[in-house]
Order: sequence, then structure tokens, then C-alpha cells
Amino acid sequence: MSEDAEDRTPLVVAVIGAGPSGIYAAEALTAQSEVAVEVAVLDRLPVPFGLVRYGVAPDHHSIRSIRNTLERTLERSDVTFYGDVTIGRDIAVDELRGAVDVVLYAYGAGSDRRLGIPGEDVRGSLGAPEFVNWYCGHPDVHPDAHTLAGDDEPPGTDQGAQIARLVGESRTAVVVGVGNVALDVARVLVKTADELADTDMAEEVLACLADKQVDTVHLLGRRGPAYTAFTTKELRELGQLPDLDLLVSAEDLEFDASSLAVVGQDKVAARNVAVMREWASRPLTGASRRIVLHFWTRPTRILGDDHVTGVELERTVIGTDGYVDGTGELSTVDADLVVRSVGYRGVALPGVPYDASTGRVPHAEGRVIRDGGFSTDEYVTGWIKRGPTGVIGTNKSDAVETVASLLADVAAGRLTPQGRSGALDRLLRSRGLQPLDLPAWHRIDSAEVALGTSYGRLRTTLAHRVELLAAAERQADRSG
Ligand code: NAP
Repeated sequence: MSEDAEDRTPLVVAVIGAGPSGIYAAEALTAQSEVAVEVAVLDRLPVPFGLVRYGVAPDHHSIRSIRNTLERTLERSDVTFYGDVTIGRDIAVDELRGAVDVVLYAYGAGSDRRLGIPGEDVRGSLGAPEFVNWYCGHPDVHPDAHTLAGDDEPPGTDQGAQIARLVGESRTAVVVGVGNVALDVARVLVKTADELADTDMAEEVLACLADKQVDTVHLLGRRGPAYTAFTTKELRELGQLPDLDLLVSAEDLEFDASSLAVVGQDKVAARNVAVMREWASRPLTGASRRIVLHFWTRPTRILGDDHVTGVELERTVIGTDGYVDGTGELSTVDADLVVRSVGYRGVALPGVPYDASTGRVPHAEGRVIRDGGFSTDEYVTGWIKRGPTGVIGTNKSDAVETVASLLADVAAGRLTPQGRSGALDRLLRSRGLQPLDLPAWHRIDSAEVALGTSYGRLRTTLAHRVELLAAAERQADRSG
């Protein structure tokens, strides 16, 4: 911050969400010197980093190391982290707006898209976010014992234990969708204990994955190999796993005019197709695990009464309108586990404008639209702004766009600091809330490293809220 900015009343900004989008927004706000700022980054979880901790696959070490860069922003003197504060439950959005000058929404896309087919909820059929949360050790799917016993509320469900049982019982999995999350899920399902040992997975997750018997994963693409949502680096990674056969049918690699046009224009599509052609040329080795890629195939029904037994598939074509049409040609594939990996979806936060048709907060260049006009004090960034697309780094340019809008509004006199320093702390105290700060995160960090060392690993994730609070040296409560 310049000396000039230091003399001025700071603009107090509350960022909701301490994932990459929120922290990149804090970085963009504090990297400029035109406007003095104080940034509060709030998260409902006790720990920061959002999808970098609870979305990026544990075996993707270099992407997970982005955490170190994000942490440096949280360590700045003009940025404060408030963990374990749920906006919309502990504090209403309007109350927060009354305590700060600006609220910047960066709370991501917390739900998943549905397939809308029969059998979607039968035991053994999971949404990818649930499965990803499980293997990343998210407290939402690793509940505390007291919440299960139902001391204060009706007894809960141990989703984590259920997923572990399903994985333990499965030999064949179907993963619907051909995006990067589908690749993550497939890879985690086929990797051996040795291949996962250098991750920071929670011990109970690692133990389950080490014991599992999954040997076949079917990936379903409703369009052809030219239309996948993979990034090539992640696709290639699958082909580098030893003792794995990858099956792509030669028929699917014979392209019609539309597929040829796509690979002619889209370099990523062309590279992905080249990777899959190379796989198709490999002789089968009788490896102990296999991944089968099915294209022009969509699921029409998940089979099984009280447990998944398979998936009914329909052959598809591209219709004249460019959308996928079913041909009526049906087949079935046996499966014990189905993971629907067809994209995330943003959810409504009470008191925040929300467009249910897109699953996003309505905005223009990051300025939130409320009651048909621009809100004077609300901005948005990340997946809840643009939808669940792009890689982690995409959130950086997205945050820069939103912060540029905010700074332009300050320059134009539409947004002025109201001398609200300290008001958020007073509000939190008045509610008896005990937010977890950055030193608390450092204590959790040290506890995870120490736990990892005790298992001969670099780090072991603490998956339960009660463990995180204990490591943070805050007394566990019953509100989680
Ligand atoms: P995604 O990239 O949007 O892929 C979703 C997939 O689901 C697409 O193949 C899509 O096919 C398919 N799909 C959608 N609706 C379907 C339906 N009703 N039936 C069958 N298939 C359907 O989503 P994602 O994999 O969840 O990833 C989200 C974002 O995170 C992406 O931007 C991704 O690149 C990013 N990510 C990156 C990494 C990494 O860099 N390592 C890792 C994980 C995630 P259509 O194309 O036909 O719609």
C-alpha cells in the first residue's frame, strides 16, 4: 500500500469464501495502491483454501502446492482470515453488509448437476462432489460422532463410512462424464495403495482405498472423443499408469464431419484425440486394472433395487440442432458403483441474489445485480460468478476483473469507505462466535504434518471437524 493510501480511511471488504477465488480477490485488492483496503476473508469451514484443499486430487501435488501462494496473501497485515463462520446462518448477509463497506461473494459451486434419470438415488450411485469430498477429507462427509448420535439434532448419517463401504464392496465402477473431475475419480479408484501413499489423504480414506478391489472403471461420454472436457496433461497422466489397460473403440475414433471440424479448430481437442488414438493402438496386456472409455453413450437408467447393479446405456448421435439425441439403441454395463461427474452447480445463499436457471449470482463484470439494478456494495467472483469452469488459475483473472470493477466504482465515487474498521469483529463478538484465525490454521497445519510423520508420510489430513478444532486448540462445540 502507498503512504498516500495509508493515510486514508480504508475500504473494508468482506470476502465470503476462502477458496482460490476469494483469496485471489484478496490478493488483487491488496496488490493495488490506489485505494486503502482492509480485507476480511470468511469461510464456513475451520480451514482456508476451498477447492485447493477439498477439490484438487490429493495425488496432484503441484496444483495443491498453490496453497503456499494463497497462504502468503492470508498472511498480509491488511488481510484477516475468519474460519468457521457461516454467513447466512451465524450472521445474515444484510448484517454483514451493515458491518463492512463491500461484500464480495466467492463461495463457489457447492452442489452437483443431476442426470434426471431413474435410479439416480439408488444405493451405490454418488455425485462426484460427494466422492471428491470423501477422498479429500472434507468435514461435510466425515461427520463427528456426536452429530451422528443426534444429541442436539436428529441422528445424522455417516456419509463417509457409507462411501467407504461402497468403495470396499465394488469391483466395477461407472463414471458418467468426460471432464477432469471424471479423470480424477477414475484415477483415484484404480490407483494402488503404493501409488496413493505419498498423498495427504486422511488415514481412514487411504486405508479404504488401499484395501479396495476395484479393477474396472467405465467412463461415459455422451458425445465423441473430439468433444471431451479433459485437459491433455491430465488425460496423458492416465496413460502413464503401469499395469493398466485403456480401452477406446476404433469405431468411436472414426470421425464424422462435425468431429473432424472440431479437431481442426480446437488444439486441445486435437491433442486429446491424439492421446486416445495412441491408447487405441496399444495391445491389451491383460493388466490387473482397466479403464474403458465409451463415447456416443449416455446413461438412461441406473439399475438395481436396493443397490446399483449396472447402468442402462443408449447410443447417441449429434442431432441437427447440435444437441445430443438418443438413437434408441440400448445396452447395459454391469457396475457396483456409479459416480456422476457431470459438473458442479452453484447454490443459493440466503439473502444473496441468485439465478436458479444458471446456478450463479447475477452480475455484470463482477458487479452484483440486485432488484434489477447494480447493488452498491456487492461483487462476485469465481465459480458462483461464471459457473464451474476453468482451472484454479482461471480464478485469478476472474478476480482481477471483479476487483477492477470495484476500484472503478470507488474512483467514480459510487463506493466510499464509511469508517467501518473493527465493526465486523464487534458483530462476531456480539454473537459469541469464535472464528478461527490464521495462527489457528498454522496449528492445524503443524498437527497434520506431525500426524503424517507418525505414519511415515509428509502430511495426513484431519477429516473431522472435531479433530480440526482440537488441533486449532479451540474447544469443540456442537454447531457443526
Ligand atoms: P466439466 O469439465 O464441465 O465436464 C463435465 C462433463 O460432464 C462433460 O463431459 C459433459 O459433457 C458431461 N455431462 C454434462 N451433463 C451430462 C449429462 N446429462 N449426461 C452425460 N454427460 C454429461 O466438469 P468437471 O469435470 O466437473 O470439472 C469442473 C471444472 O474443474 C472444469 O473446468 C475442469 O477442467 C476443472 N478441473 C480441473 C482439474 C485439473 O486441472 N487437474 C481437475 C478437476 C477439475 P458435454 O460436454 O457433452 O456437456
